[in-house]
Amino acid sequence: MDNFEYVSAPHRVVFGRGTLQELPSMLEKIKAKAVLVLCTPQQISTAEAVKAIIGDAGVSIFSEATMHTPTHITEKAMLAAKDKGVDGIVSVGGGSTVGLGKALSIRTGLPHLCIPTTYAGSEMTPILGETENGRKVTRRDPRILPTAVLYDVDLFKTLSVDMTVYSGINAIAHAVEALYATNKNPIIDLLACEGIRTLCSALPLLQADGNDPAARHQALYGAWLCGMCLGAVDMALHHKLCHTLGGMFNLPHAETHVVLLPHALAYNASAPAAAGAMAKLAAALPDSAGDPVRGINALYQRLGIRLSLQGLGMPETGVDEACDVAIANPYKNPRALEREGIRELIRRAWAGETAK
Ligand code: NAD
Repeated sequence: MDNFEYVSAPHRVVFGRGTLQELPSMLEKIKAKAVLVLCTPQQISTAEAVKAIIGDAGVSIFSEATMHTPTHITEKAMLAAKDKGVDGIVSVGGGSTVGLGKALSIRTGLPHLCIPTTYAGSEMTPILGETENGRKVTRRDPRILPTAVLYDVDLFKTLSVDMTVYSGINAIAHAVEALYATNKNPIIDLLACEGIRTLCSALPLLQADGNDPAARHQALYGAWLCGMCLGAVDMALHHKLCHTLGGMFNLPHAETHVVLLPHALAYNASAPAAAGAMAKLAAALPDSAGDPVRGINALYQRLGIRLSLQGLGMPETGVDEACDVAIANPYKNPRALEREGIRELIRRAWAGETAK
């Protein structure tokens, strides 16, 4: 085994069903007596339910969380926090709302309790991506990591079956890239393989019955593990491409991950530096017969996934444009970034072809 460094995140996590009732005692532990509750306009009723449980400590709701954390929204939320004199933040929602909570918390130093309602995993990372004048800038800082996380499986009943599948695969993508990260370690490998196994077994069950409580439980547990992978080690080609394409063509986050994952994996699968990772991945993916690309394609076939970048709204001229940007900014990846191969990867994803 190689030498490695493992940094454990110092935050409290409560996991289970009906755990929302533990919110008052969690707020006590982080010493928050007057909080601003954050949500998107689509999740106001969930935020109201949260505020009702908190009682007098729930001072106000700010319901303008938006994808990619635009700074003008953060500034508006800052004014609301100041105006209400809050001493804590509660974010309830997907990655967009968690992002706003992180942006507020890093600017104010206020404790941030996070209640995720998708499988995106942002609650487990010290990473914040913010958009200003159409440009997304991402930074990593230990102070960005939420102070505490409350996972309640019951909050996922309202997540549509499509979003459940797409968000679940978004989580799997974190674990896939963690396995071949240049700063990978055996602890994160364990979390990654367990996260992939758990989600691969839960997602088909949830597609058949979105109200299956045991499968919801499994999926959230798997997503938590995958989120830890995202927060702990460096991501590579797949995440960089999602970031580049999402920003250039304003593509939806989870769906972009779904389209690109098999193709990014196929690009990296033959890299000698990723051989060990690919063997672990193949063992974690059902029906892989030892080949991770076959395994991911089988999962997509089982889930009936038929997305393409073209279908998400990316123009065909974007294939070359995106390739230029992807090649221009080098980053760590098990296989060197070769123009022809990267262009073909993006073209296949654009056309919705099967990865190979
Ligand atoms: P999202 O937060 O944008 O949510 C999508 C939509 O689904 C929103 O309208 C939301 O209100 C709704 N929704 C969420 N949970 C729901 C539920 N349980 N029931 C009903 N509706 C629900 O989507 P996302 O994929 O979770 O997050 C995407 C954003 O998060 C992107 O901006 C991405 O960059 C960011 N992100 C950041 C990190 C990080 O570590 N910094 C990690 C993952 C994602």
